[in-house]
Amino acid sequence: MNYKLFIPGPIAVSDKTLRAMAQPMIGHRSTDFVALYRSLQPDLQALFYTKDPVYLSTSSAWGVMEGALRNVVQKKVLNCMNGAFSDKWNDVALRCGKQAGALRSEWGQPVDPAALRRELATGGYDAVTLIHNETSTGTMSDLPAIMAVLREFPEVISIVDTVSSFSVLPIKKDELGIDILLTGSQKALAMPPGLSIFSASPRALARAALAKDRGYYFDLVEFQKNHENGMTPSTPVIPLIYALQSKLEDIRAEGLEARYARHKRLNETVRAWGRTNGFKLFPAEAYGSLSLNCFANTRNIDLPALNKILKTKHHLVIDGGYGKLKGKTFRISNMGDETDATIAELLKALDSALAETPVATG
Ligand SMILES: *Cc1c(COP(=O)(O)O)cnc(C)c1O
Repeated sequence: MNYKLFIPGPIAVSDKTLRAMAQPMIGHRSTDFVALYRSLQPDLQALFYTKDPVYLSTSSAWGVMEGALRNVVQKKVLNCMNGAFSDKWNDVALRCGKQAGALRSEWGQPVDPAALRRELATGGYDAVTLIHNETSTGTMSDLPAIMAVLREFPEVISIVDTVSSFSVLPIKKDELGIDILLTGSQKALAMPPGLSIFSASPRALARAALAKDRGYYFDLVEFQKNHENGMTPSTPVIPLIYALQSKLEDIRAEGLEARYARHKRLNETVRAWGRTNGFKLFPAEAYGSLSLNCFANTRNIDLPALNKILKTKHHLVIDGGYGKLKGKTFRISNMGDETDATIAELLKALDSALAETPVATG
């Protein structure tokens, strides 16, 4: 069945990107691969706003999210938690046998910089995890304010997930002092899943070098050593690296500022549609994500019925709520390659489907 995804990941992938993947294989230790790998660095470093290397990991984002903990947490990590992904990061830290503290906010609330400062001041932490854009609740925390707090604690390595906000707005790794900045391929970059892209500061690498149990697959030191030769530690997902090459061309052609402006405009268009139709934004309005809108189901509509109409009649899919918010919220992505025209089409379909959608029972 052919339908278009407006769920916040994976999202729709353009034909151009799909075609880019269908190229002949090259050896991952060949000069062709080295040339490909090195050719991507300038655009990646521009997107990360960094002078540090940008590494390519054949894994979904969770690989690097877990790997970062194994590399840099020696004493105790503080996990900033305000939604499904950030909550899980705490669980993952514990599963890795790390000492982990929890800085909790209500789902839909941003991470509170003042609370972060108070907790770090109690001492004992050597790393922090933060999700910039909590995709489960459509909540975007104030990254500059949080990084200003983290810069007060030089012993604390910051690990920042920008899976659903990367390239949606400027995220200035070096200027903000982010140690490990990571994203995934299937969300804001509008590629198929399977590639995680990340950059690490020299002090994160220095910390990693001291960790005796950092393993192999996500070893930062291995990534750096191979990077110096224009390679990855193990055989990478070469089709997705071709897709990345194609996507970076797209981004360069559009221009970063235009890309940021497009995301902001399309996000506001969808948000205004929600407001007009009686749906309150789920997160605090000032912290609403720029890459998706998570609406509270304030009209108590039957969300599975809505999605069924959307899918069968309009060949579109939105998300009916993540985890404990299933049925209580719905999420619409505006990240990736969406345009004024594709969003207008989506909203027209939503209007039509909504008129047929019954109220939820029970
Ligand atoms: C989707 C998502 C992840 C997990 O990504 P995987 O590709 O499933 O590993 C992590 N963080 C955020 C913010 C996400 O939106």
